[in-house]
Parts: sequence; C-alpha cells; structure tokens
Amino acid sequence: MPYEPVIGLEVHIEMQTQSKMFCACPVVDSVSAPPNTAVCPVCAGHPGTLPVVNEKAVEYALRVALALECTVNPVSIFARKNYFYPDIPKGYQISQYEQPLAEYGRICLQISQGEKVIRIRRAHLEEDTGKLTHVEPAGAAQPYSLVDLNRAGVPLLEIVTEADFRSAEEVRVYAMALRALVRALGVNSGDMEKGVMRIEPNISIRPIGQEAFGTKVEIKNLNSFRALERGVAYEIKRHEQVLTSGGAIAQETVGWDDAAQATYSQRSKEDAHDYRYFPEPDLPPLRVSAEWVERVKAALPELPIARAKRYQRDFGLSATESTFLAEEAALGEYFERVTEAGPIAARSAFAWVTGELLGLVNTSNGGFESIKVLPQDLAALLIMVTEGKINQATAKTVLTEMFASGRKAAEIVEAGGLVQVSDGDLIAQLVAETLAENPGEVASYRAGKLTVANFLFGQVMRKAGGKANPQVVRTVLEQQLG
Ligand code: ADP
Ligand code: MG
Ligand code: ZN
Repeated sequence: MPYEPVIGLEVHIEMQTQSKMFCACPVVDSVSAPPNTAVCPVCAGHPGTLPVVNEKAVEYALRVALALECTVNPVSIFARKNYFYPDIPKGYQISQYEQPLAEYGRICLQISQGEKVIRIRRAHLEEDTGKLTHVEPAGAAQPYSLVDLNRAGVPLLEIVTEADFRSAEEVRVYAMALRALVRALGVNSGDMEKGVMRIEPNISIRPIGQEAFGTKVEIKNLNSFRALERGVAYEIKRHEQVLTSGGAIAQETVGWDDAAQATYSQRSKEDAHDYRYFPEPDLPPLRVSAEWVERVKAALPELPIARAKRYQRDFGLSATESTFLAEEAALGEYFERVTEAGPIAARSAFAWVTGELLGLVNTSNGGFESIKVLPQDLAALLIMVTEGKINQATAKTVLTEMFASGRKAAEIVEAGGLVQVSDGDLIAQLVAETLAENPGEVASYRAGKLTVANFLFGQVMRKAGGKANPQVVRTVLEQQLG
C-alpha cells in the first residue's frame, strides 16, 4: 500500500535580546561564556523571587509572529509547565499554553515543484532551560552531569506549524526560510550548532487517500539542516517498513545519532496533562495593544521571501537563485550594489558574486560583510571583462589578488601587464609559432583527431601569458589549421 508522509514542526528560537525573559541577567553566548556566570536568584529559581516580563523579548516575538502573518492575541497568558529535571531549577517552565501570543499564520515556500503554503498554528513565548552536559568518564568512575544555567531564562519563541509537510525536502526548505527570516528580523543569529534555533519534526505516515493521521514520532537533537532532512527521511522509511511488515508505530520521542545516521528511542511521549499546566500566578496577563502591533508591523524590514520575489522579477533570476541570494542578506545586498554600480548583466553579477567571490569568502576567516573588495570594485572588474580589456581567466586571478590586498582591478591589471591581447597579427604569429613547434599534433588534427585543437589552444594561451583573447585565438587557430 502506498503511504504519504505527514509532518508538523515545532521550532524553538531564542530571542537574542540583551537580557533574559524574566530577569536582568545578560543573554550570553552558550559556547564561549564560562558556565553559570549569567545567573541570578530569579533564573536560578530561588524562592521568593518574582519574574518581570522583558518588553524587548515580546517585541522580537511580535516581529516574527507578524512576519509569519499571524494574528496577535490582544491578551495572552503565561502558564506554568511543571516538570522535575535539573535543567529547570524552579521545577516548572514559564510558557504559554491556552492563550498564546499569536496564532493562525502562514509562510509560502519555494520548493522544487513550485510554491507550497505551510500554516502556522501558533507562536508562543517561554523561557529556555539550562544546559546539561552528561559526562561518562573512562574506567570505573561514575557518570555525572554538569549543569549550566546561563541559558535558563533566555527568551524563547516556539513556533508550531500544522502538519502540512509532505516530504523531507519541504521540511528543510521551511527550516532554512525560517532561519533566514529570524536573521533578517535581527532577533536570532541562526547558529544551529549553538542551539539558538532548535527544530523538532513530528512525523507520521498514512495510506494515500486516508484522511486520519497515523501515529507520530518526534525527533530531537537535530542540529543542522542536513541532519534535519536525513532524520526525517530516516523516520519516514522506518515507518513504512514497520507498517508494511504488519507492525505498529509507538508514539515516542527519538533522538538523532549523527554518527550512526539513525534515530534511537529516547522516551515515550508525555501528554499535556502530565505537565499540570496552570496560569502563572506571578505574572499578569500579557497585553499587546493594536497600536504596538501596528508599530512593529510598520518597522519590519523587507523579508527574504519578498526579496527573492523581487530578484526574480527585476533581475530575471530563477526561483532557486533568487532564494539563495535573498536568504543571505549580506550576499543579496552585495549583489544588488554590484548591479547598481554600472552596466553589468544581472546574470554575470550573480555568477561572480555567488561563484568566485563567495568561494574566496568561504576559504577566508571573515564573513561577507568585512571583505576588502567593495561592490563597485567588483563591478569595475566585470566591466573590464565586458569591454574586452581582460579575459575571464585573467579576471579570476585579478579578483583573487583584489580579495587578498584590497587593491583595485585597474591597478593590478596595469601593474601586471595583464591587458588582453586581441591584436590579430600578434595572435596569428603566436599561433604560427605554436603549430611549427607541434608538428605531430597538427598532423593528428588534420587526420581527424579534432580534440587536439584544445591542446594547441592551451599552448597558444600559454605563449600569450594567459592574456590572449580566447575568441580570437580560436578563430585564428581554426584558420591556420584548416
Ligand atoms: P504534542 O502535544 O505532542 O506536542 P501537538 O498536537 O501539539 O502535539 O502537535 C505538535 C506538532 O506535531 C504540530 O506541528 C502538529 O502539526 C504535528 N502533528 C500532530 N499530530 C501529528 C501526526 N499524527 N503526524 C504528524 N504530525 C503531527
Ligand atoms: Mg509538542
Ligand atoms: Zn537571572
């Protein structure tokens, strides 16, 4: 029986404000900050302390909710989610349950078959938990766990979708779009390896044509897009195998083991009643005025999806190319500045920015924001290519030099004597010399081995120090060989 996957996502995104959700502790980097250095009696859960809502965290959450076209509830309620575990010193997590901050949103994704709308069920505010590190010493020593409360109380937005995904690809595209969105909104760095954005897919399958959902499994510990896509694909396949062989899926939470490229059972899933939710008595209802919503909405920047649409429309780039540029704001900005700096074909700007230049950036330490080659410098280089001053191969060498030293293209070309040789007489002379030096190759070309022309082309270019105009060389070569 053919099955189809049904998937819904829960994504936790830290709102990277200056201070925590309910106290004045700073939000610090989870990797570099020494453990337990950003903790106070409130986030350590001491008795008698009281939480105070961080207004900036609410504003950040509103940005995301509005960008996802959610309806913001004028009143939302904080609730206690009770559970006993060392990562939560109070014994409960302050979250939102029955009345979340926002509901009923949507996001329109660009997938390989076209557009796909995913409905957002809800987005609610809560506090992050502390971080536990489980240590298993070698030998006879007992395993133990380290508790770091720096993360406890960091504002967290949980975004829950409807079960609208039908493939692992859709899940990955959504996760990437959401990451680009929160980065564009300035609320999160998007550093998945640091755990500031955590994605938990719920997966089930059902026979095609059946309305009712099957039993779902939730995957945790997915800390990259690759792991996410693989983990989802793995579970879909496992469900198919279990069901086709007459078995049943147990509702549970599984973890992703990246080394084994497989999931493993973690625990059977709790139900909501296990958490004994009740309204947080220490916090009043959260009121968000219509005026505040309007203010946040008006201040939203251009969002990646809209930006990608604009690139498609204005520059004739494909959906995939546009999305690639738009999801990395610095890259998109740079590309736009290049096209504005002179008469440069968008296609050529795209190819150089996302090809050669991005390649150089990726092998260097810094990011795109801090490179020495300004957009107008790349534009000047590309214009030299269009005008025939230098050829493509020379341009690549020059760009590498520009990237390393920050010198301008014209300067490097001049100093290196790299101006393209298009002079027909000179090229004719180089070709003649080359043919005279390679009589064997010439003979085999004339005997019908046409690929030898490529070798001879290379020899002529070498003689010209790589600077000859390749079109002219090809033409002259064909004439003299023919
Ligand atoms: P839970 O209470 O277990 O967290 P929810 O009903 O809140 O479950 O749903 C969590 C996520 O799982 C949502 O994104 C929802 O769309 C998705 N979901 C719910 N049931 C299923 C199912 N049977 N198969 C796949 N996804 C599901
Ligand atoms: Mg859940
Ligand atoms: Zn604190």
